Amino acid sequence: MTLFEKIIRREIPADIVFEDDQCICFKDVDPRAPVHVLLVPKKPIASLAETTAHDQALLGHLLLKTQEIAKKLGILDTGFRVVANSGSDGGQSVAHLHFHILGGRALHWPPG
Ligand code: 5GP
Repeated sequence: MTLFEKIIRREIPADIVFEDDQCICFKDVDPRAPVHVLLVPKKPIASLAETTAHDQALLGHLLLKTQEIAKKLGILDTGFRVVANSGSDGGQSVAHLHFHILGGRALHWPPG
C-alpha cells in the first residue's frame, strides 16, 4: 500500500483541504511554496505513465478540481502551477499518481 493510500484510509495523518468520492487533497509535508498541496485520486494508479483510457473521466475530474482548490486556498486570482512528476527522471518519489498544486509566490520557469 502506498503512503497516499494510508493517508486516504486515515492511517497516516494529513492536513486535508478537500475531499470527494474520487480524490483527496492535502498539504505537502515539505512545502516548496506558500501554498503547496497534493491532489490524489483514491484509485491507486502508480503514475501518469500507468493511466489508460478508462481513467479519462477521473483525470478530467482532477484537473477541473484544481481551480476549485486554488480558489479555496486563495491563489486562483494570483495564479498557480499544477505539476505531475512521473517516473525517476520526472522526479516522482511516491508511486501513487498525484498533482502538486503550488502558489502564493511567483514560481520560476523552467523547473530544475
Ligand atoms: P513526488 O516527488 O512524488 O512528485 O511528490 C511526493 C510529495 O509527497 C513530495 O512533495 C513530498 O514532500 C510529499 N510527501 C512525502 N511524504 C509525505 C507525507 O507523509 N505526508 C504528506 N502530506 N506529504 C508527503
